[in-house]
Amino acid sequence: MKRFKMLIDGVATESISGRVATIKNPANQEPVAEVSFGGRVDAALALKAAERAFPGWAKIEPQRRGEILHRASDLVREKAEEIARLLTQEQGKPLRYARNEVLSSAEALDYYAEEGKRNFGEIVPSASKRSRSLVISQPLGVAAVISPWNYPVDLLAWKLAPALAAGCTVVAKPSSKAPLAATEFVMATEEAGLPPGVLNLVHGSGRDVGSELVENPISRKVSFTGETTTGKEIMEKASRHVKRLSLELGGHSPAIVCEDAKIEEAAEACMYRAFSNMGQICISVNRIYVHDAVAEEFADELVKMTKKLRIGGGLDPDVDLGPMFSEAQRQKTKDQIADALDKGATILCGGSEPEGEEFRRGFFFMPTVLDRMDHSMRMMREETFGPVAPMMSFSSNDEALRLANDSRYGLAAY
Ligand code: NDP
Repeated sequence: MKRFKMLIDGVATESISGRVATIKNPANQEPVAEVSFGGRVDAALALKAAERAFPGWAKIEPQRRGEILHRASDLVREKAEEIARLLTQEQGKPLRYARNEVLSSAEALDYYAEEGKRNFGEIVPSASKRSRSLVISQPLGVAAVISPWNYPVDLLAWKLAPALAAGCTVVAKPSSKAPLAATEFVMATEEAGLPPGVLNLVHGSGRDVGSELVENPISRKVSFTGETTTGKEIMEKASRHVKRLSLELGGHSPAIVCEDAKIEEAAEACMYRAFSNMGQICISVNRIYVHDAVAEEFADELVKMTKKLRIGGGLDPDVDLGPMFSEAQRQKTKDQIADALDKGATILCGGSEPEGEEFRRGFFFMPTVLDRMDHSMRMMREETFGPVAPMMSFSSNDEALRLANDSRYGLAAY
């Protein structure tokens, strides 16, 4: 079985402890590949390598850094099919969506290759004629970038590309549960001609590798996407060193369907956003508020479209939905559905695992439409990260806005 190594100081490296983890396919639980599983020591070595590489990389002209990033983008595009297949096998999403994710990650490299040249400063009017105030942008140092499993390539790309373009060096830690495609992406980026140590990659758990990247004073910036609880912990730890932080955390997005909506279009948009990637997206549609006058028509349309979705292993070109990422995600979804049903919701379709031998060993779940929801139900307040479209009706636009805003999240709305 192929072993995916880490990248430290320009060298593909095994973990110091020799520990290895096996990554399994959520569609059938078969092993896909092994990864060298690092710990705090490996993370510290990677940080030191990035610290050593920083002065040289920071000095290179933005144009030159941009050329390397463009070349990296070309290499990722050349390997897109291979990377996408790995992504489908480790994460579950259908191959055409995995392809889109990899290509959009290549675009991130191109985008920041250009943006790096436009890292403008500012002249600020001064109170005195004897002085001139300038704001200049300078590379910060070592950036620690930590990403989750739902878009393991894309979310990593949108962090490391701007850091590299700005002249920072990087230590990346992808999700320990879906690290394969991200590793291929990082290796391709490195191959484009980055000096050793500029881009490093460490596999391992958030508890060990993630904590070291956040707590070690060498990292000057932490860019994290993941759960809100993890983000809070990182914020607290990073504050001890007054590190710069970018946190992209959980979401709970409402969609409002008004009385004058084009029902077919609205249903299609909600279906797409509720079930894509099996609802495992931070900006999924999590709550649908539908005007009383069109609630029945909308529900019928949504159910009709949902029932046409084809479920199966992501490598099958005909499927719309793959498995969920893990049993934990599936169980959380089931628990929230049970809670909603207990409190008076009704199921219009889905609500269980699909039947059939081909689904037995994977974490499959039927896309589910629920009606008669209210805000006492956990699903209307907590992130589900599952393929569920819960509906609740309203009678005035003011009421719809009040319901949509009745959430502690604020990531997206439709
Ligand atoms: P987690 O917060 O569990 O993990 C995210 C990353 O952080 C992983 O690499 C994880 O490592 C690592 N990590 C875990 N604990 C720590 C720690 N104490 N210190 C440092 N790093 C740590 O999130 P998930 O992977 O479960 O991802 C799903 C979440 O991500 C959802 O809440 C979703 O809303 C959010 N998300 C937000 C987006 C946004 O743009 N706002 C976009 C996509 C997802 P390990 O893999 O070992 O657990």
